[in-house]
Amino acid sequence: LGENDCVIVGGGAAGLATAIFAARQATGRQIVVLDGAKKLGAKILISGGGRCNVTNDVVAPEDYCGGSRHVIRRVLAALPVEQTIAWFRELGVALHVEAGGKLFPDSHRARSVLDALIAEANRLGIQIFTGNRVTALTHQDGLFRITTTSDSQEGCTLTRRASEGAVTWEARRVVLATGGLSVPKTGSDGAGYCLAQALGHSTVPTTPALVGLLLAGDFHAALSGLSHDVEIAVRGDGISTVCTRGSLLWTHFGVSGPAVLDISRHWHRAELNGQTATVSINMLPGLRFDSGDRRLVELSRLQPRSALHNALATLVPARLADALLAKADIDPQQPVGQLGRDDRRKILTMLIDLPLPVRASRGYQYAEVTAGGVPLDEINPATMESRKCPGLYLVGEILDVDGRIGGFNFQWAWSSAWVAAKGVLDK
Ligand SMILES: Cc1cc2nc3c(=O)[nH]c(=O)nc-3n(C[C@H](O)[C@H](O)[C@H](O)COP(=O)(O)OP(=O)(O)OC[C@H]3O[C@@H](n4cnc5c(N)ncnc54)[C@H](O)[C@@H]3O)c2cc1C
Repeated sequence: LGENDCVIVGGGAAGLATAIFAARQATGRQIVVLDGAKKLGAKILISGGGRCNVTNDVVAPEDYCGGSRHVIRRVLAALPVEQTIAWFRELGVALHVEAGGKLFPDSHRARSVLDALIAEANRLGIQIFTGNRVTALTHQDGLFRITTTSDSQEGCTLTRRASEGAVTWEARRVVLATGGLSVPKTGSDGAGYCLAQALGHSTVPTTPALVGLLLAGDFHAALSGLSHDVEIAVRGDGISTVCTRGSLLWTHFGVSGPAVLDISRHWHRAELNGQTATVSINMLPGLRFDSGDRRLVELSRLQPRSALHNALATLVPARLADALLAKADIDPQQPVGQLGRDDRRKILTMLIDLPLPVRASRGYQYAEVTAGGVPLDEINPATMESRKCPGLYLVGEILDVDGRIGGFNFQWAWSSAWVAAKGVLDK
C-alpha cells in the first residue's frame, strides 16, 4: 500500500473539493472517493432552488453558529471568497452576485457546478466509486480499514478485500466528508457521526437548521403564499434573544422564507436544551412599540376617514392587514380616525410582537443543514486532522458548524476542504 493513498468518504461538496484540491497539488497520488449514493451530488443539485448558491460576497465567522468562531475564522481565511470564485472560474463556472451578496453560477443551473466538479475530478484521475456506502471504519497501526457495502470498484488499484458481500479498503489517510442529516434521501443520513465516534470522536447533539416552522392553529393557512419583511426573534428564560431580519413566507404548514430559516436553528437549540422558546415577529421592521404607535397615530391623523383595513394596508400587505383585524376582532371598515386607544394598542401589539405558535419544524427531511456534529475542538484547524485519531480528517457539514442562508454552508465546505487537502498532503 502506497504511503500517499487517501480515501475520502462522501462525495458531496466537501468531499469532491477535498479530492480535487489534493489531487491538484499532488498529481500521481491515488485519491479515492467512496459515496453511498447511486449518483453523486444530489444535494448540490437541489441547492439554492436548483441554482446552487455557491458562496457569498462577504463571508465572516459571524455568519456561522456552532463551534469556536476562532476556528471558523481560521478555516475560512485559508480559502477566502475571492479564491473560491477564482477556483470556480478555472473550473469553467463563472459566478455573479445577486441580492444579499449571494453568488450563483451564470448558467443559473446547479448542474453546471456539479458537472464542473466531476469533470475536474475525472481530469485529475480521482477514482470515484458511487454505491459504496461505508459501514465501518477502524484504525490500527497507522492503517485505516474501511468497510463498504460492495458495488462496483472497477479499475481501482487500492488494496481492498471482498468477503460476504462487503469490501474492506485500506488507506493511511481518511477524510470524513459524510455531511449531516439534512435531506437524508440525498445520502447524508448521519452515518458519518457513528464512523467518527468509532474512532474516538464525540458529537454535539444535532438538530435541523435552515428549516421551515410548523405552526398550530389556522391563522397561517389563510395567508399561504404571502411574503413580506419581518424581524423575527426567539426569546426565552435562560436564552439570549436572537433576532434576524428578512423575508417571511406564510405557507400551508406555517412559516418559511429566509428570516424563518435563519431563526429555526435557535428555536431548535432552545428546545434541545429543554427551554421553552417563543418565536415572535415584528411586521414593521425597524420600528418598536413607541415608534410604531407614533406611526399608527400619524396614519389616523393623515387619513382619518380611511377604512382601517385600507390604512393598515399601507403598512403591511392587505391580506395580512385583514387577517390581523379579524384575529383582533376589530371592524376593518371603521374609519381609522375613530380607532380607540385600546384597539390601537391591540393592533400595535400584533404588528410589533406577534407570537407564532411554533409546534415543531419540518425536520431533517426539509432542513437545508444540520446544526451540531463533531466538535471543532476535536480537530486541528490548521489541517482539519482529528485530534482523536491521527490520519483522519473531517470536512464540511459533519462538523459542528452551520451557516446562515446565503451560500455560507458551501463556503464552509470549500474552505474546510482546502485546509484538509493541504493537511493530507503535508502529513
Ligand atoms: C435543499 C437544500 C438547499 C441548499 N442550498 C444551499 C445553497 O444554496 N447554498 C449553500 O451554501 N448551502 C446550501 N445547502 C447546504 C449545503 O448543500 C450543505 O451544507 C453542503 O452540501 C454540505 O456538504 P458536505 O459535502 O459536507 O455534505 P453533503 O453534501 O451532505 O455530502 C455528503 C456525502 O456523503 C455521502 N455519505 C454519507 N454517508 C456515507 C457513508 N456512510 N458512506 C459513503 N458515503 C456517505 C452522501 O451520499 C453524500 O454524497 C442546501 C442544502 C439543502 C438540503
